[in-house]
Amino acid sequence: MRPTGRLHLGHYFGALQNWLKLQEEYECFFFVADWHALTTHYEDTSSVAENTLQVATDWLSVGLDPAKSTMFVQSSIIEHAELHVLLSMITPLSWLERVPTYKEQIENLKDRDLGTYGFLGYPLLQSADIVVYDADFVPVGEDQVPHVELTREVVRRFNAHFGLKVKDALFQDSYRDDLHHVLMKMGELEKPMPLWKLVEQGGMRAETRALLRSEMRKHAAEVGIDNFRRSLGTLKKYFIWGEVLHEPGHLLTETPRLPGTDGRRMAKSYGNAIWLSDPPDEIRNKVRNMMTDPQRQRRTDPGRPEVCPVFAWHKLFSAPDLVARIDGECRTAAIGCVDCKKLMAENLVTWIEPIQERRKELEAHPQKVWDILDAGGKKAHAAARRTMKRVRNAIFKWDEARPPRRAGGN
Ligand code: SF4
Repeated sequence: MRPTGRLHLGHYFGALQNWLKLQEEYECFFFVADWHALTTHYEDTSSVAENTLQVATDWLSVGLDPAKSTMFVQSSIIEHAELHVLLSMITPLSWLERVPTYKEQIENLKDRDLGTYGFLGYPLLQSADIVVYDADFVPVGEDQVPHVELTREVVRRFNAHFGLKVKDALFQDSYRDDLHHVLMKMGELEKPMPLWKLVEQGGMRAETRALLRSEMRKHAAEVGIDNFRRSLGTLKKYFIWGEVLHEPGHLLTETPRLPGTDGRRMAKSYGNAIWLSDPPDEIRNKVRNMMTDPQRQRRTDPGRPEVCPVFAWHKLFSAPDLVARIDGECRTAAIGCVDCKKLMAENLVTWIEPIQERRKELEAHPQKVWDILDAGGKKAHAAARRTMKRVRNAIFKWDEARPPRRAGGN
């Protein structure tokens, strides 16, 4: 999440509610994307630090739990940037130019300077953000699915260049020779070359891949690896099959549509948001001025709850029996909009109360929030370091070039 400052109900129902569920089911990494803020707003960085604190405070207020999730600031993990650079070396420009949000944002944000590499490359920075943690899934809305798809493509390309490698236990000359012999006989190879280079030939036929697998199985049996089963899952234990980087999937986030107070999508720029930190009277005031069914001009006119933003909010904050009652009474003009709004506002205030109590505690001790981000950063860093060691080694083959240091040696 970018450091946009305090969060509103749209953020809660669009993302945070889902994150709360995910932290119960998965090992989650959530970070404040301060580098991403620069891709569209590099001119003014004055509020990034304060906004980072506000975003993290809201995360903790709604119930994200540092004991369950890893929360941190993107720029504290330098490996995101390193992986971004390395991925940028193999990513064709056309892949970035065809990302749908690229053209859309160029069209929509005419007042911004988006003619930078940072803006063109931000989906690739996202790719690095994802794969540096070997993520299995990324929770996204529909519009972000192409970004995960780009990530998958980049990972495949990266793995095809640097990935195919037999793990050390099997990486023996005799075996390599056998394999080359078979491949040359099949016409797939003209001369022997390192295994990792094989894939660079491109266009390896499916049968060849199958043959490689079966040869590897045979070889594993010969070198006496116990419990060797014929599943690809087990194979992965012994071979790195094009998987220096892990291909992520996406988890599509189902979100109830939450309109802003004026009926449009809730957004800071529209001035139609209710903030998680709005005091109760401010919430009541905003709800009082909310848009309703535009056709309901007079108290005696029947209303259409299905087009009314107040009713959409009732469905989130009021008990089902009250929602059913409002549905009926609105249609028959048995309830007026003023009373209907009052009921909803009180339920919203009750719903938001525990969030705001937690927020007040954290506001009194902002250092606590920074400490949580720092501790999360340490955990994230350890995971990112592991990935990058693998990545550097796959690209530059440091392990093959440099003999291991002997204990006690010079
Ligand atoms: S009575 Fe309630 S649901 Fe019906 S139009 Fe008025 S505010 Fe909307």
